[in-house]
Amino acid sequence: MTEVFIRFPVHCPVCQQEWTSSRTKAEILDALDNNKPIRVYAECHDWHWDLGESGRTELSGRVRSPR
Ligand SMILES: [Zn+2]
Repeated sequence: MTEVFIRFPVHCPVCQQEWTSSRTKAEILDALDNNKPIRVYAECHDWHWDLGESGRTELSGRVRSPR
C-alpha cells in the first residue's frame, strides 16, 4: 500500500499565521482513532503544539472524505 500524504492548514496560536502541515493518512487515522495527539508546528514563532478538538474534527473530515 502506498503512503498517502494529507496536507492541512494550521494556524499559529500566537499570531494566527497559516502554515501547512502534512502527515501520512495512516498516521492521522491512527491518531484520531486512538486518541493520540497530533503535533503541529508554526515556523513564524518556532512553536509546537497539539491540535485541539476543532482541528482534529476538521482533519477528520479532510481525511475521511473521498477524493
Ligand atoms: Zn506566529
